[in-house]
Amino acid sequence: RNRLFGGLQKTSGKLSENLTGLVTKAKLDDAILDQIEEALIISDLGPATAAQIRETLSKTRFEKNPTDDAVRHIIADEIESILAPVAVPLEIDAFPRPQVILVIGVNGSGKTTTIAKLAHNYIEEDYGVMLAAGDTFRAAAIGQLQNWAERIGVPIIAGKEGGDAASIVYDGVKKCTQDGTDILIVDTAGRLQNKSELMDELAKIRKVLGRLNPAAPHNVILVLDATTGQNALSQIEIFGKVANVTGLVMTKLDGTARGGILVAAAKQFGLPIHAIGIGETMHDLKPFNARELAEAIAG
Ligand code: GDP
Repeated sequence: RNRLFGGLQKTSGKLSENLTGLVTKAKLDDAILDQIEEALIISDLGPATAAQIRETLSKTRFEKNPTDDAVRHIIADEIESILAPVAVPLEIDAFPRPQVILVIGVNGSGKTTTIAKLAHNYIEEDYGVMLAAGDTFRAAAIGQLQNWAERIGVPIIAGKEGGDAASIVYDGVKKCTQDGTDILIVDTAGRLQNKSELMDELAKIRKVLGRLNPAAPHNVILVLDATTGQNALSQIEIFGKVANVTGLVMTKLDGTARGGILVAAAKQFGLPIHAIGIGETMHDLKPFNARELAEAIAG
């Protein structure tokens, strides 16, 4: 099994465990369907997904009484059908340059690490990348991004703690234009506690960007920590209201049994999920592959 499955072992184990013993080659009667639905809910797939899968199972005409495997197969297919529409890679358009990717998310979600991983992947694809340290709220955030930039070997625009994020973004776009850099990845402050400040800041960044490059930001990526389960879902809702989120990255799927949250997010919001984080190094951002994930989650 590949590394992705390895990374999702805990998630895989969870639904498996929750389903084990439910199907014993007997008829899938209401009582068993109820228990399967419950198992899906406690595995973080969400009530809507659980109801959908229950419905499909109840309508399926099995040739014989279903085996555990047959049921899991149907569950995996159903999960895949929910995940496939959101499995959208983060595409970089050819024009205009630079393409600007704004990265948002609460502190601790894995925002900085995800920026580093994205930068690394783009460098591997021969793009020119620059980072902008727009999280001026925390000195540590600036330093951390600078460390990553050095390690990956990409330039970075940074200012002082408490500085103006929009002016850093402005400098970043100017510099990219001068240097012919393809992609500017912008870190932002993750202050969800103060929504109006966050909104003002994002609005200001947008305004500055819009003046230089009318279509920018080309992508607004919300980074979510899978280990927070339901919290990740409410963050999609809240950030969705204050920023025009164009896609998601879900991190820390390696350390959690809560990978089912990917399905809940896909079902509830339908936003593209560009990639998943399965570790702390720059090599640990993986494309979102609906079939692989469906199989991992279905166990
Ligand atoms: P930020 O505050 O949102 O910028 O979050 P950071 O990027 O600093 O990440 C917070 C912590 O989570 C750090 O210790 C990271 O190494 C860790 N982290 C980030 N992404 C992942 C991931 O995909 N898997 C694991 N296991 N840890 C991660």
